[in-house]
Amino acid sequence: MRYLIISDIHANWSALEAVMAAAKDQYDEIVNCGDLVGYGPDPNRVVEFCREHCRVVVRGNHDKASVGLEDLEWFNPVAQQAALWTAEVLTAENREYLSALPAGPAAVNGFDLLHGSPADEDEYLTEPEEVANVVEFLRTGLTFFGHTHLQGAFLVHRNGVKLLERPHVDVEDTAAYLINPGSVGQPRDGDPRAGYAIFDSEMQAVNLFRVDYNITATYMAIRNAGLPELLGARLYKGL
Ligand code: ZN
Repeated sequence: MRYLIISDIHANWSALEAVMAAAKDQYDEIVNCGDLVGYGPDPNRVVEFCREHCRVVVRGNHDKASVGLEDLEWFNPVAQQAALWTAEVLTAENREYLSALPAGPAAVNGFDLLHGSPADEDEYLTEPEEVANVVEFLRTGLTFFGHTHLQGAFLVHRNGVKLLERPHVDVEDTAAYLINPGSVGQPRDGDPRAGYAIFDSEMQAVNLFRVDYNITATYMAIRNAGLPELLGARLYKGL
């Protein structure tokens, strides 16, 4: 089975569309590490897509915030404004769907999905040292996560944890892997292209991809929605 792993779409329809077009012949099922909404201008379209097409979805902090399950006090002013706007425009069905999303980790055919970290759904895993601190919470050898919007794979070995600087990972059973497919809708690693991953369970291989999308379409939609201009401008930089 080939899985398309997506995360942090953040209501960016144009980016999701580009990922779906690029991944068209690469997968059998879609799974999602959360943050469907927040920041971006198309929450309803994105949630409807996920409701229909994603086999497993775990919730992200922005999903919680948009349905009143997260204290907005922890959000910066721009994120707060976007969360309030999202809450206002969500349809009742989509709000209900987001409210019912499970916290990770969620098991999918031998691998796990979660938003932040195996210890805490809202914790950021950016550095190998941070991953080392949560290794004891891993339930399986392969875990996909999001939240940081940084595409990359951590290798957990008995000698320590390291970030693998390559887009292809062979999953060996002598190690564990924490892999971030990157953000579809708001990359923050300096590369503005949308990120996604494919896991082939037969080959035991994960490949990380980037794809160009129409950033200007999202930028204009952000402006037209009355969302902070900064949320559109940052997309061009991928930061
Ligand atoms: Zn996010």
